[in-house]
Amino acid sequence: MMKLVLLSLVLILMGCKPATDACSNVQEQEMTQSDTCKTDPPSLPDPVGEIPNEALLFSTSVIFTNFEREQEEKVHKALEIIKAVVASREFRKRVYHFTYNGKQAFVDNQGYSNEDIYQILLNASEKLNPGNDHEMDLDLELYYSYKNTVGYTYPNVMRIWMNTKYFNVYTPAEVAGNIFHEWTHKLGFTHDTQYSAARDASVPYALGYIIRNLGKHYE
Ligand SMILES: [Zn+2]
Repeated sequence: MMKLVLLSLVLILMGCKPATDACSNVQEQEMTQSDTCKTDPPSLPDPVGEIPNEALLFSTSVIFTNFEREQEEKVHKALEIIKAVVASREFRKRVYHFTYNGKQAFVDNQGYSNEDIYQILLNASEKLNPGNDHEMDLDLELYYSYKNTVGYTYPNVMRIWMNTKYFNVYTPAEVAGNIFHEWTHKLGFTHDTQYSAARDASVPYALGYIIRNLGKHYE
């Protein structure tokens, strides 16, 4: 009987995890490392650090041309999604860690690092409406074309045109991705006209996909 009790005790002791495991989730939380687990050796620093205030305050403003009420509502949902994604830790991580062809950098990045690009997005200083106002300034117009263009814009205008052929069937997260793509053109980023895997890693395409994919969780 005593033997059995001792054996159980040994098994219980073996079942105990080392104290350091209690801290394994700390990196995903908003608290600073010094708040928890003071006796443990310092864990690795969070690779993306704290979410800056600009990400939490990031806002949008929009002018509509040729929109029905329902279509405007879809855009408003899309803009709520964009704000939620931009304010998220996951968005910061995706931008910071974006990798193409083994290099941690966007294609057509104009010499900017991933961290720079994250800050440029938060600054939201459109080339034609400069100033770090942390606000996406949007001038949207709907049009219809049978062609396979989802949306487009030109460097010399603020306006972004969106094709109702896609807009009307897109989910709010897909619209969010498209608006974000076009808006990065307003920040001065460009991409190839021809499709390629590299083009998908350009600032406009890659960020449009990140917004769309993370945005699905906020629909
Ligand atoms: Zn584009």
